[in-house]
Formats: sequence, C-alpha cells, structure tokens
Amino acid sequence: MSTWEKNIRRVTPYVPGEQPKNTSVIKLNTNENPYPPSPKVEEALKNMNPEKLRLYPDPTASELVEAVAEVYGLEKEQVFAGVGSDDALAMAFLTCFQTPKPILFPDITYSFYDVWADLFRIPYEVQPLDDSFLIRLEDYKKENGGIVFPNPNAPTGLLMSVEQVEEIVRANQDVIVIVDEAYIDFGGISALPLIKKYDNLLIAQTGSKSRSLAGMRIGFLFGSPKLIGYINDCKYSFNSYTMNCPAIAAGTAAIRDQEYFQQCTQKIIETREWAKRRFRELGFLCGDSMSNFVFVTHPKAAAEELFTALKSAGIYVRHFKTPERIRNYLRITIGTKEEMDALFMFLEQYISTDRSV
Ligand code: PMP
Repeated sequence: MSTWEKNIRRVTPYVPGEQPKNTSVIKLNTNENPYPPSPKVEEALKNMNPEKLRLYPDPTASELVEAVAEVYGLEKEQVFAGVGSDDALAMAFLTCFQTPKPILFPDITYSFYDVWADLFRIPYEVQPLDDSFLIRLEDYKKENGGIVFPNPNAPTGLLMSVEQVEEIVRANQDVIVIVDEAYIDFGGISALPLIKKYDNLLIAQTGSKSRSLAGMRIGFLFGSPKLIGYINDCKYSFNSYTMNCPAIAAGTAAIRDQEYFQQCTQKIIETREWAKRRFRELGFLCGDSMSNFVFVTHPKAAAEELFTALKSAGIYVRHFKTPERIRNYLRITIGTKEEMDALFMFLEQYISTDRSV
C-alpha cells in the first residue's frame, strides 16, 4: 500500500438497485412510485425561470420547509430538508451519533445504516429480528449510543404500531432515536405526533416514494427545534446549498397537492393488497407488508434463479445475498396493475414448472 493510501478513509459503499438504461423494462427493483408526480409539479417546473439558476438557492429551502410545516401541522423549526432522506439521514447520523457506545439497528434492515456507521466511525450492534422478521422491543432496552430503524421496516415491509415505537423511544430518552418512515404513507400510522412529547426523537420521511419524486432527491427530518437546530449546524458546516431551485419548487408543489397524494397512495395500497393475495395463491410466503413493496419467498423456487429468470424476461426485482436469512427472498416493488399483471403472468408459468430447491 502506498504511503498516501494509509491516510485514506476507506469504506465499503452502499450498493443501490440497478437503474437500467433500457426504459422498456418493468422496473420493480427500487421501490419507486409507478405513477408520475402531481401535475402541480410539472406546472411549477414549467414556471421556473432558468434565469433564476444564476443565483444560489435559498440555503434554508424555506418555501419547501414552510409548505411541509403547514401541511403537517408543525413549526418550521421542526423540519429539516435534505437531498433525499439518504442525505438527511446521513446528516442525522453525523450529528446525533457522536458516541463511544454502539448504536442499535435490526440485522435485517435498510442496508445504508451500517455503511453510514462505518463511514462516520460510529460503533454499532445489530439486533436480530425474530423468526417472523419482527423487531423485538426488549432488544432496544439496553445500554446504547442511539437507535435507528425503519417503520415499516425494509425490506420486510412489516409495520410497528405507534405504541410500540413509543415504547422504544420512552426507554431511550438519553439518546437519539431515529425512526425512518420512508414507507409510512402506504397505510402506516406515523409516529410524528410523538416529536412534541420526546425531544430526542427524529422522524425521517421522503419525497421519493409516496410523492413520486425519487429523481428530484427530496427528504425530510422532523424533530424538536433544538435537535433540528443541531442538524442544521452540521449541514451548514458541510454544504449550505443542498436543495437546488427546481427541487425546492417541485417539492413544494408536491407537498401542497394532498389530494393527488391521497389518490396515488390509495391506488398503490389497493394494488398491494391484491398482489399479496395473488402471491399467496401461487404458493409464495408473503408477509403483511404495509409499504410499496412486498417481500416474498417460494418453497419451490430458489430466489436467485427466479431473480435472473425475471430479469431475462425484462422484469427487474431486488435480491439481497446477505444476510443469509433473506437469501431466498425477493423484494418486489408494487407497480401499476398492468405491470403486476405481467409479473403474475410470468410467475404462474414459472411456478407451474417443477423446480425443487
Ligand atoms: N430509508 C429507507 C428504508 C429506504 O428504503 C430508502 C430508499 N432507498 C431511503 C431511506 C432513502 O430514500 P431517499 O434518499 O430516496 O429519500
């Protein structure tokens, strides 16, 4: 190793799902929304004057932050906006987990948490989900430097009640607890009201899923003004202008169009409930996902082979090789009804062919 290499911060990076160049594939691999963003977003972008791009954007993204605060019944000091919730969560890790004690998160969860922990040199300890892939509350009642978990969890899609979330927060008032609600809008109940009661609770949400803005990169953190203030201090010490002008305009328009948001999420929920029944009819084990994806396994089909067969047929889903416990599962995003029909047409054929594992 050369001398300069000894000073390099070395990390094993997060691997995002594939974004194929071929746009004719059925893309059910990265939990994007199959529907376009609100028509108000198109209008806002069309009305944007490119002349404005000469100037730096508003570093506080106040138009967006104020719209979010208004729609969610919060003070603007309780809202942080970032370049997708990945950016917001990374900033939260950097700010909140300055600790020699390990932070805790589930063994099967969003695979970015251990990457941020490694990047920022935060010690961590994973807590195994139970045999039904559920979080065991007692695992989060020990000495720790902080806690983070998604609700619903990813890639399982399984939801915890607000009471269960509160039990974890109540037991950990000396550390920051981050609840990653990237998928909460697909039928879950948000723990957001709890931020008024617990000043150590941070909730993350995103514009990427329920608002169809994955390509725009918009995410949020909600917490006490004091906690959001500390996160902003870190953000301004890293990059003041994270949110660009089009993102601020598009995000504001999307957040204000609650009617479109309700219609769109409702359609996805209906397709998901129908898809769960179809998967079970075909012999898949399919948990009770409350997100915009399902997590399935079939006793007679090896997940990796099915993943490859689907890909050859132009249907992209997600397969995780680790942890070992989920190796035979596939995470499949809920697409439009037509996309799901094409998926089930393929699966019917595939499953009816004998393939013992
Ligand atoms: N949290 C979870 C659990 C996710 O699955 C994702 C999507 N990859 C994110 C956060 C980040 O989403 P985004 O950066 O697009 O807001």
